Amino acid sequence: MKINNLSNCTGCSACYSACPKSAILMVENNEGFLYPKIDDRKCVECGLCEKVCPAISPLRVQKSECKAFAAINNDEAIRIESSSGGVFTAIAEKIVTTGGEVFGAKFSEDFKSVVHSWTDNMDGLKDFRGSKYLQSSVNESFKECERFLKAGEKVLFSGTPCQIQGLKKYLRKEYENLLTVDIICHGVPSPLLWKLYVEYREKLAASR
Ligand SMILES: Cc1cc2nc3c(=O)[nH]c(=O)nc-3n(C[C@H](O)[C@H](O)[C@H](O)COP(=O)(O)OP(=O)(O)OC[C@H]3O[C@@H](n4cnc5c(N)ncnc54)[C@H](O)[C@@H]3O)c2cc1C
Repeated sequence: MKINNLSNCTGCSACYSACPKSAILMVENNEGFLYPKIDDRKCVECGLCEKVCPAISPLRVQKSECKAFAAINNDEAIRIESSSGGVFTAIAEKIVTTGGEVFGAKFSEDFKSVVHSWTDNMDGLKDFRGSKYLQSSVNESFKECERFLKAGEKVLFSGTPCQIQGLKKYLRKEYENLLTVDIICHGVPSPLLWKLYVEYREKLAASR
């Protein structure tokens, strides 16, 4: 058994991260969105990719356990750097000051893509602040997060709701030392569109 219907796939990378044979690659489609592609020569049809896929078997959430709070960051400078009140930074700072690691989305060095990464210090949080309106590449972040959790480190993992569900399905067990922050998200725009836009701006700047 292996994933063959990608109609509900969000590109969360849980299957890529879980595959014991490294038979899954995350490959860009014609709009730049990442989707899993299975190498049939490596696949042993163990079915793990289907088991961890939140689109095929979504996590069940106990709605009765949900509570809602409203808050903003007290620090005006942080609020200015953030997109929606800076609560992410407030939570992340707490984790960093107690010795933990924070995962989030940041621009790549050439600004042409967004990637998931981690930091254990305040300075590193700067890169995660602010909404980047395109799909981020999770790369090895789920595996790195699991490594920290197994070592007993406190971890905060932030991302889109699809990525957080993907992480939880990938981990396949609850960790008391894991805190997740999923941002409110209507969907991720095309990474290819962003890349073309950056290239257009680069050309424009060079022609001046
Ligand atoms: C793709 C996208 C769609 C959004 N859709 C909505 C919406 O429909 N309605 C609404 O009210 N708000 C939306 N937002 C805004 C988002 O919910 C707020 O930015 C969020 O609530 C965090 O606010 P903050 O001020 O605490 O943190 P900020 O400092 O503004 O944001 C930092 C946090 O956002 C995460 N993040 C930034 N870009 C990405 C990305 N590309 N992929 C994964 N994680 C990312 C970082 O990891 C970090 O956790 C969207 C943001 C994004 C990136």
